[in-house]
Amino acid sequence: MINVAIDGPAGAGKSTVARAAAKELGFIYVDTGALYRAIGLKLIRKGITCEDTAGVEGVLASTELDIRFENGEQVVLLNGTNVNGVIRTEEVGNMASKTSPRQVLRARLVQLQQKLAASEDCVMDGRDIGNAVFPDAELKIFVVASAEIRAQRRYDELKAKGQEASFEEILANVKERDYIDQNREVSPLRQAEDALLLDNSNLTIEEQKQWLAAEFQKAING
Ligand code: C5P
Repeated sequence: MINVAIDGPAGAGKSTVARAAAKELGFIYVDTGALYRAIGLKLIRKGITCEDTAGVEGVLASTELDIRFENGEQVVLLNGTNVNGVIRTEEVGNMASKTSPRQVLRARLVQLQQKLAASEDCVMDGRDIGNAVFPDAELKIFVVASAEIRAQRRYDELKAKGQEASFEEILANVKERDYIDQNREVSPLRQAEDALLLDNSNLTIEEQKQWLAAEFQKAING
């Protein structure tokens, strides 16, 4: 099986590149952040805080989490229910970010991610794919853009949806999430030694797709 690992900080545009690459290659695309978000959603619904170790462990023990694919799109199933439509909020993202340092949670989700890719070629994005999930991936990409550019993209997205947004607040949130991801003990966000750096601060999506297609050819065909 061929694995393409795409890592990077929040809002760097990993999913756009990863989804496009998966489509081009005919691979499945797995967005691992959605799994962390699904657990975050369950914790919010149960009123459990991220500091409550027993509460988080209890939720993990009583939760069935799975992914299936419908028309090439990933569907996250939380105890059998599709939660795709409710995990994209800031509240759920913040909860996912705050609970993601927990070893017990990461171990469970990494195992699920490895199982998903055992029988399918896949492009997977997240924070620890190249270092922890697929250390032997055929191609590893680390996507970056400055915090200001990532915050501006998020601000534009919210404005386009007609939602109120403060650039300063979004920037502070981007920096906070980076800090948590980069400083946790288990699988901190780091570029893998053999990952290629893609700084997309000033690249169009088309340029990124072409760059990735060329790198894939080199990685697979030499
Ligand atoms: O990528 P996304 O913003 O959807 O991820 C939500 C949160 O899940 C992130 O803030 C990050 O802390 C965590 N995450 C992680 N490891 C992954 C994917 C996401 O720790 N592989």
